[in-house]
Amino acid sequence: MSLDKYNKKRNFSSTNEPEGKIEKPKSELIFVVQKHAASNLHYDFRLEMSGVLKSWVIPKGPSMNPEDKRLAIMVEDHPYSYKDFEGIIPKGNYGAGKVIVWDQGIYTLTDENLEKEAVVSIFKFNLDKGHLSFILNGKKLKGEFALVKLKIKQKNAWLLIKKEDQFAIEKDILAEDKSVISNVTLEGF
Ligand code: MN
Repeated sequence: MSLDKYNKKRNFSSTNEPEGKIEKPKSELIFVVQKHAASNLHYDFRLEMSGVLKSWVIPKGPSMNPEDKRLAIMVEDHPYSYKDFEGIIPKGNYGAGKVIVWDQGIYTLTDENLEKEAVVSIFKFNLDKGHLSFILNGKKLKGEFALVKLKIKQKNAWLLIKKEDQFAIEKDILAEDKSVISNVTLEGF
């Protein structure tokens, strides 16, 4: 896990995003989904692991409907402190545009009877294997999901899929468009 790519892409005297440092993980693992109006509107899905946020860009955003398989492009690790970042990345910077924290919460891996120390190694093993299963407990996203790597030429292409459970719904969760931190919409600032 490294934040070199993240730091190289950004000029911290010019953007208000946090500088990348590896942080000490807390006892619970967090996830965050940011809605980001860069050159293309997209959602950034991030799962904490080993003090950084593993990150995927989801062009169409996450869905609570198991029928929707959403393309998720794996991108560079982001710093843990990015979980609370919202605001405007100034013009001329990487990813320039508005960002809100669309959802935030904790997650657990679905492997049963998992010892706490085993979580990191299981996560890394499943990441390398290209199949992560986890349970989200956010304000909007809840229940079991999977991230599955596509076996195609384009490296880093994954699918985010909602699993069938009591939280699965057909209704479009993206209609809930406010920040879970500030209650503003992307259009609102
Ligand atoms: Mn983004």
